Amino acid sequence: MIQFDKKSLRKEVRTRKKQFSTEELIKESCPLIQQVLNHPRLQSAKTVLLYNSLPDEVYTHGLIKQLHNEGKTVLLPVVISDTEMELRLYRNPNSFETSSYGILEPIGEAFTDFSSIEFALIPGMAFDKERNRLGRGKGYYDRFLPLLTKAYKVGICFPFQFLPNIPTEETDIKVDECIY
Ligand code: ADP
Ligand code: MG
Repeated sequence: MIQFDKKSLRKEVRTRKKQFSTEELIKESCPLIQQVLNHPRLQSAKTVLLYNSLPDEVYTHGLIKQLHNEGKTVLLPVVISDTEMELRLYRNPNSFETSSYGILEPIGEAFTDFSSIEFALIPGMAFDKERNRLGRGKGYYDRFLPLLTKAYKVGICFPFQFLPNIPTEETDIKVDECIY
C-alpha cells in the first residue's frame, strides 16, 4: 500500500512541476541556492556532495562551479546499476558524460572516502516537516546515505514539493534539514 501512496504523491508532484517552464524553475531556484550558500555547515565544509540538476530539479549547475572555484572538493553522484550509485570528483565542466537518466555525470574513478564528506545536498521529489524524503522510486539515496557518516544532509526542493506528510518505510533515510 505504501508504494501506492508514494507513487500517487510522485504523480502529484510531477503535475505541479508541469505548471512551470524550465526557465521559471531556474529562477525559482535562486533564493534556494542562496540559502545553501549562506548555510554555516556548507561554508565550513571542505568536501561536499552536490547533485547535477535535471531540468525539473532545483538548479545546481552554477552552485557546483562556484563551490569548486572556491576550492571545495565537490562530489557528484553517478548511477552505476539499478540499485547503486557511486561518487566522483567534479573537475571541470568538460569532463562529463550523459547517463541513461539524462544526468550529466563526471568521468573518472570512484571517490570512496565517505567519512570526509561534511555537507550533502540531496534532491527529492518531495520532503516534509519531519524531514522525510520521497525520491524517484529507486531508493538510491536510501542505500547510499548511511555511508555518509559525518555529512550534514540538506534536502532541497521547490516550495510546491514540500508536502504535509510523506509515507515512509524503515529503509527511508531522513535529511537533517530541508531548504524549500
Ligand atoms: P525513493 O527513496 O527513491 O523514493 P523508495 O523509498 O520507494 O524510493 O525505495 C525504492 C525501493 O528500494 C523500495 O522497494 C525499498 O524497499 C528499496 N530500498 C530502499 N532502501 C533500501 C535498502 N537500504 N536496502 C534494500 N532495499 C531498499
Ligand atoms: Mg525512499
